[in-house]
Amino acid sequence: MKLLTLSERLGLVSYRNQAKSDIKPHIRVDTDICNSVCPHKCTTYVCPANCYTMDEDGKVHFQVEDCIECGTCMYACDQGAVDWNYPDPEIGRGVTWNFG
Ligand code: SF4
Ligand code: SF4
Repeated sequence: MKLLTLSERLGLVSYRNQAKSDIKPHIRVDTDICNSVCPHKCTTYVCPANCYTMDEDGKVHFQVEDCIECGTCMYACDQGAVDWNYPDPEIGRGVTWNFG
């Protein structure tokens, strides 16, 4: 069996209800906190799916669409910026794991 790179593995993840724009995302990030008081911006390098990014001006951005629900940011953020709720597969977004 061919070993896959991390990017290839992430590309295999699919998402329930991804097309529903009216569904609440399972993570909300107050980027005002990221861009005002956060001294380390650690989620920009611990998120395995690159949902947190920092632009050339040092400003943090967040996008939930590629999240694989690992939960890392829920524990990594010590600034109170991350509101993380496990998605309900029936009404919310969520990952469909293809290989368990
Ligand atoms: S650690 Fe928290 S406050 Fe800092 S950049 Fe990440 S999400 Fe924002
Ligand atoms: S739960 Fe994991 S994959 Fe999703 S945004 Fe947080 S760190 Fe990234």
